[in-house]
Amino acid sequence: MYGMKVGLLTLCLVVLDARVIDLSHRHGPLTLMSPGQPHYNRSLVSRGEYLPGVFAENGRYESGEHGGTHMDAPVHFVMDGQTLDDVPIENTIGEGVMIDCSREASLNNSYMAPLDKVLEWEKQHGEIPPEAAVIFNFGWSWRFNNSRLYINTESQLLREMVFPSISEAAGRFLLEQRHVKMIASDTLSPDPLSEGGQNARSLPIHQTYLPRGKLIVENLRGTEELPPRGFRFHAAPVRYADASGAQVRAYAITYDMSSGAWCCVAHFLCVILCSVVCSGTFSVCPLV
Ligand SMILES: [Zn+2]
Repeated sequence: MYGMKVGLLTLCLVVLDARVIDLSHRHGPLTLMSPGQPHYNRSLVSRGEYLPGVFAENGRYESGEHGGTHMDAPVHFVMDGQTLDDVPIENTIGEGVMIDCSREASLNNSYMAPLDKVLEWEKQHGEIPPEAAVIFNFGWSWRFNNSRLYINTESQLLREMVFPSISEAAGRFLLEQRHVKMIASDTLSPDPLSEGGQNARSLPIHQTYLPRGKLIVENLRGTEELPPRGFRFHAAPVRYADASGAQVRAYAITYDMSSGAWCCVAHFLCVILCSVVCSGTFSVCPLV
């Protein structure tokens, strides 16, 4: 049955002209963490013969919650706020929108995407739908393994951490006028941490999104491969009890928005096939 499900997923992806794009960095002991967060550390619990002739390996690990490709849960900035294990799974999946700021960021390390950048995107691609997951591509992820390139410093001082980010006006517009459910970027944070060489006095996107139960995903990779729209964004973490965040395996599934009616027919066929073959409990269509 499992092989058949995988086969159906492949069929649906082909029929719908879909592509899966991995948006996550590998999470290892050297992965860049948010300031003060401990690195990932794995050790072996057992390795060897589990049963006669049967090999098995088990490990354990610890890691700071905020580092690498990860999600911020509301409690990260809200005392007694929603913890990661209480985040509804549907909040971690959204209709994707990619706003490309790579040209501007390549000219200015501390570029802040202004509201005009969002409005310009809408002029070209239409209004951002409600409940969208809006991803800012700064063309930054190739720098991730070199903190001097990625955040302009090897120190833990916030005031020295310089990277492209999202302006308060753009963030507020997306939250209040477009009612997005997630905001994400390929940088350390959607908010700048340094302001004219001093620690930033506030983190407006963290402080407005998280109290309203909206999620933030940081340090994405591969965002330059995303189309402006026509994909679904997924970023589900493990339901760690009481956590304020966690690493996610973020990815996108693209679909061809231009295929119109044919896409609907293919979608319908996928659902029928899946419900017949998989007893109606399994849906793999990226449009469902
Ligand atoms: Zn975080």
